[in-house]
Amino acid sequence: MKKIAILLLVTVSISCWSQNNTNPTKYINTITSKDLIKHLYTVASDEMEGRNTGSIGQKKAGNYLINHYQTNGISFPKGATDFYQKVPASFLNAKRNENLPDSENIWAYIEGSEKPNEVIVISAHYDHIGIENGEIFNGADDDGSGTVALLEIAQAFQIAKKEGNGPKRSILFLHVTGEEHGLLGSSYYSEHPLFPLANTITDINIDMIGRHDEFHNDSSDYVYLIGSDYLSTDLYNICEDVNKKYVNLFLDYKFNDRKDPNRFYYRSDHYNFAKNGIPSVFLFNGVHADYHKASDEVDKIEFEALKKRTQLAFSIAWEIANRENRPAVDKSGN
Ligand SMILES: [Zn+2]
Repeated sequence: MKKIAILLLVTVSISCWSQNNTNPTKYINTITSKDLIKHLYTVASDEMEGRNTGSIGQKKAGNYLINHYQTNGISFPKGATDFYQKVPASFLNAKRNENLPDSENIWAYIEGSEKPNEVIVISAHYDHIGIENGEIFNGADDDGSGTVALLEIAQAFQIAKKEGNGPKRSILFLHVTGEEHGLLGSSYYSEHPLFPLANTITDINIDMIGRHDEFHNDSSDYVYLIGSDYLSTDLYNICEDVNKKYVNLFLDYKFNDRKDPNRFYYRSDHYNFAKNGIPSVFLFNGVHADYHKASDEVDKIEFEALKKRTQLAFSIAWEIANRENRPAVDKSGN
């Protein structure tokens, strides 16, 4: 009897390991305000000249991102030759001719240990609107905040990987260009995907998570989630569960209403994934008085809120990367 009991215990503990229920708290805590401050004071500095699509300033910001990945030992994706996906001027100017030069999406990648062919995309646009009438639009919230969130999320996954707790599924960190000119970089990616869209199991898109809007003057402990339940009940449940377990923000679904006149669901890069049937969730803080103004500056960023929302995005990605099944598509998206 004793022997059997011991065997049972061993079996139970082995099956727990194979499910890899590693608690991510330790890695969540590597996402810090201090790091976010350091990154955002660079990405949203005047030196980057407002990061307009194809500009020298945007390329400088891109170099900073790439340098971060290299410093952390994170490579460009398998099948690519470098950190850039070139987005040609012909594509950027096809719809509205704004005379944009060639630009680039920037990508980095952590390969999954068990299901490497299933890919989670975490996206944020790193372009903004540049310089107008001599004023630099630094876009600290839009979308400097999402840009630096990706850097911290990637670092957290890489630290986990070094400790033998790397994601089971692969993660593509995608800094898209041309968002401000009509979601162009993500549109280009969706038409020229590096990994088949059929194996792209979720997009977590982050666009403006460093401030609060007029509906949350009392507390910035919230984030709007948009689209999480449009294609996949699993994705909605995952967002709710990991938030309760690890982050405890108020998840606000006000703009998840398709009839909302702001139509935010159609206004950021996740849409180019969602329209292809890929479960997608958009993390967003809403708009504020500095939205698309030169005054969207880094000294107005609420770094504690930015940290928590980044931690939530990481937690969602962690769960999807490591759970047994990919989020099922059980809804039409309409
Ligand atoms: Zn934006």
